[in-house]
Amino acid sequence: MTATPRTALTIAGSDSGGGAGIQADLRTFFACGVHGLTALTAVTVQNSVGVSGFTEIPPEVVTAQIDAVANDMGVDAAKTGMLATAEIISAVASAVDAADIGRNRRIPFVVDPVAASMHGDPLLRAEALEAIRTELLPKATLVAPNLDEVRLLTGIDVRNAEDSRKAAEALLDFGPQWVLVKGGHLSGDSRCVDLLFDGTHIVTFDGPRYDTPHTHGGGDTLASAITAHLAKGLGVPDAVAAGKKFIERCVAESYALGAGVGPVSPFW
Ligand code: PLP
Repeated sequence: MTATPRTALTIAGSDSGGGAGIQADLRTFFACGVHGLTALTAVTVQNSVGVSGFTEIPPEVVTAQIDAVANDMGVDAAKTGMLATAEIISAVASAVDAADIGRNRRIPFVVDPVAASMHGDPLLRAEALEAIRTELLPKATLVAPNLDEVRLLTGIDVRNAEDSRKAAEALLDFGPQWVLVKGGHLSGDSRCVDLLFDGTHIVTFDGPRYDTPHTHGGGDTLASAITAHLAKGLGVPDAVAAGKKFIERCVAESYALGAGVGPVSPFW
C-alpha cells in the first residue's frame, strides 16, 4: 500500500475530444501527484474543430457529486471549469460552502470562469455570467480569467500591463482573494505575461510564448495544476508559479490531433 495522496476536486464539463475540461483536469492532477475527484457539470460534444453542443447535468446531481466525495474522501483543493448554467452555479456555490471550500474557508477554491471555447463556441449560457460575478467570485481563493473572460466579466479590454492592473482591481471588487489575469491571449506580444494580485501584493509571471496553434485545454490545465499545488499545501503565489511552469512545458510539447486545434500535452 502507498501513502494516501492529497486530493483535488474539479467541478467541470467533459470534452469528448479529451483535450480540455474534466479530462485535462484529471490528467493534470495525475501528473502533479494528487488524486483527482470529479463533479461533472455538462457533457460537451466536441472535437478539434469545435463544440457542436452540450447537455448540462441536473444541478442536484452536481451537488450530490460534491457532497459524496467531500464527505467521504475529503478535498484538499477544488476548482471550477465549465459550469454551463446559472442554476448549476447556484448549486455549486451552496455545495462548496457546505464542504468548507472557498476563501475564508478551510479548503482553497480556484474559479476558472469558462465562458467559451477557443473557437468561440459558448460553454456558458449568457444569463449565467452574472451568477459567476455575484455567487462564485466572492467565494474564490483565486479567479483565473483569460482576456476574453476579463472583458466579459469587467468590460475592460486589456491591451497592456496598465489595463491588466485595472482589470485585476475591477475583478477584486467582486470579492475573490486573488486574481490572476492571464495575458496569454494578448496578440502581438512575444512574451506571455500574467499578473497575480490580491489588492496588496503584485506578482508578474513572464514566460515565453510558444509558436504553436495547438493550445486546446491550456486554461484548464493551468487552473488544475495550480489547484493540485494548492492541494499539496503551497500558498497561492507559489502554486501559481508551479502551475505556470507546468503549463509552459505542456504548451511547448503540444501536438496536432484532428483537423483543427490539438491539445497541450501531458507527455513529457
Ligand atoms: N470544453 C470544456 C468542457 C471546457 O471546460 C473547456 C475549457 O474550459 C473548453 C472546452 C475550452 O477549451 P479551449 O478554450 O481550449 O477551447
